[in-house]
Amino acid sequence: MRLSRSFFPTLKEDPKEAQSPAHKITLKAALIKMLLGGVYSYLPLGFFLLKNIERVIREEMLKCGAQEVLLPALQPVQLWIDSGRDSVIGDIMFRFQDRRGRNLCLGPTHEEVITDLVKGFINSYKQLPIVLFQIQTKFRDEIRPRFGLVRSCEFIMKDAYSFDSNWEGLDKNYKAMFEAYRRIFKRCGLDSLSLQADTGIMGGAESSEFMVLSDSGEDKVNFCKTCNKYFPFSEGDNKCVECGRKSEVKAVLELGHIFKLGTKYSEKLGLYFLDEEGKRLPVIMGCYGIGVSRMVVAVVEKHMEKKGVIFPLEVAPFEVILVSLDSSNSEIVSCAERVYEKLEKKVRILFDDRNKLPAGVKLNDASLIGSPFFIIVGKRFLSEGKIEIEVRREKKKIMVREEEILSVLTKLIKNERKEC
Ligand SMILES: [Zn+2]
Repeated sequence: MRLSRSFFPTLKEDPKEAQSPAHKITLKAALIKMLLGGVYSYLPLGFFLLKNIERVIREEMLKCGAQEVLLPALQPVQLWIDSGRDSVIGDIMFRFQDRRGRNLCLGPTHEEVITDLVKGFINSYKQLPIVLFQIQTKFRDEIRPRFGLVRSCEFIMKDAYSFDSNWEGLDKNYKAMFEAYRRIFKRCGLDSLSLQADTGIMGGAESSEFMVLSDSGEDKVNFCKTCNKYFPFSEGDNKCVECGRKSEVKAVLELGHIFKLGTKYSEKLGLYFLDEEGKRLPVIMGCYGIGVSRMVVAVVEKHMEKKGVIFPLEVAPFEVILVSLDSSNSEIVSCAERVYEKLEKKVRILFDDRNKLPAGVKLNDASLIGSPFFIIVGKRFLSEGKIEIEVRREKKKIMVREEEILSVLTKLIKNERKEC
């Protein structure tokens, strides 16, 4: 892709409305733009990042045997009354009437809708287990939207649901999801920690939360340095159970939450099946969520540096950014063009081919755009015929001849992949 024809309106100044360093970068790099408080547009660069995160999630869900669906955001309030959650969820749910006077809401989550959907098709143990997932926009009328995508009124979630005829099946699906979540966060370059958690408004038997340490985090955990262990936050005197020492409190950002729902929703909404003996039983359910838009913030926060971001290869909008430093020099320009042509089909590359811009501006933008590799065609090409490859995470610069560029870069990318 050519930067001269792209819509990447990076900002020169720090945006005043930024509420955290990560929020600042997401605005400055033009990943997102606020439409109104708690509501954001994804610009092309942010959308590339989002799609890459979604791709990782999708791949891991498919590995768990989950199948993708897309459920409506518009839901009848009646389903929420039937499940008993209408009054519990209260004002966080956007509600309104359509022109026919139907009471509708914008889905803050989809347990009701999916239970109702599956109910229409499942009646025998032979049809179970099934696992379904979607990546979709959710809505919450937040009192206090904060930190950009961390707490917003419209956000993207991956939500998966498992349906089993027995509890062993649920345990198996829960465990598979647990492992998938670990892999998802790792592939996105995040060190996640997981803790047993409260089941809260979802209800059910057991749940685990996945979090990352974060300055944008609104939740807390306790950490014992001696035992190198995290445990659920509690007020007051926090002694670690294992060693009796005082623990530290750390801010965390919740990215995922998985639940063994059991039969709460199937009983309330009438999702039953017939077992081998013909006995009518409620389907046993689990639900598994990831805050996809939040992952954008988490990835930026984890990988930001002074001038921008160094995205992990797997989710980087571009693996490589190629910069021709002096656009007034025809030799430099044509070398950069040749390099671009050679690499374009092999890697996700952005070519800063913009004319008449100072080198400093180009390098600043490159840092904001966040590719793990820079290729710079500049004066050294004129004097020595060499092109610079920068491995940003290692702060390493390698000078190569033009004809070596593809083989060296491919090797570097391969190494970087191995480390993830
Ligand atoms: Zn301890």
